Amino acid sequence: MKTTINEEDVLGVILKLTPYKESDVIAHVMSKEYGKIGIHARGVRKVTSKNARAMQPLMLSNMTCRIKKGLSSLVRAQPENYYRHIQENLTCEIVAQYICEYYFRYIEENKPNLDDYETLTMSLEALNNGYHPMLVYLLFNVYILKINGVEAHVDDCVKCGKPQVVSISIVEGGFVCEDHIGSLQRYSLDILKGFQFIHMYDIKHIDRIQLEEATLHELNHIIDLFIHDYTGIHLKTKTFLQGIV
Ligand SMILES: [Zn+2]
Repeated sequence: MKTTINEEDVLGVILKLTPYKESDVIAHVMSKEYGKIGIHARGVRKVTSKNARAMQPLMLSNMTCRIKKGLSSLVRAQPENYYRHIQENLTCEIVAQYICEYYFRYIEENKPNLDDYETLTMSLEALNNGYHPMLVYLLFNVYILKINGVEAHVDDCVKCGKPQVVSISIVEGGFVCEDHIGSLQRYSLDILKGFQFIHMYDIKHIDRIQLEEATLHELNHIIDLFIHDYTGIHLKTKTFLQGIV
């Protein structure tokens, strides 16, 4: 939205702040209209700064900026959502950081994409609204597989197309039937159904997904292996999740 000449309102999630000069920061922001951009915010590390409270990592802010292709500059900022509940729960916070780190490191700048933006804001909202953080983590990792074109085959046996499946093969990339199970372990119906569900429904439909704690745990283990084997994506935040997943 235009305000005055050269100034635009940017609604976006602050993924990360990098200290800059004596009291400035560069805010790495994922916005709906401009995609991922860098915003130079002057003086926000000073205690007197009016913009400081709206320029914290892991929050949604409305930033009036002078937009430039390289670094935009901040005029003023208003907080939109602090996602307070996320900060009250350590697992939620780590999952939120994992998601923000993905956007910071793997999403290209200046390429607006509504799906990317909505997946980010809906994931943060789901965490803030009390959905199981490991379910949000699971759905987000399936999203990573999808946008990288390596999501698992969940219609039928990936080898022969038989509808009765009994296991999930990381190597083959999806469900396998009795004839193609090889030396893999057999999975329960709950795991197999859950695996299909998380590919059918994304974060927008999180309310439709009901999974037992043990199923959630096992599915996270499987999807983590897919991420590891098919994407080469490695996020530092994952180290903190190791004890939890
Ligand atoms: Zn088969």
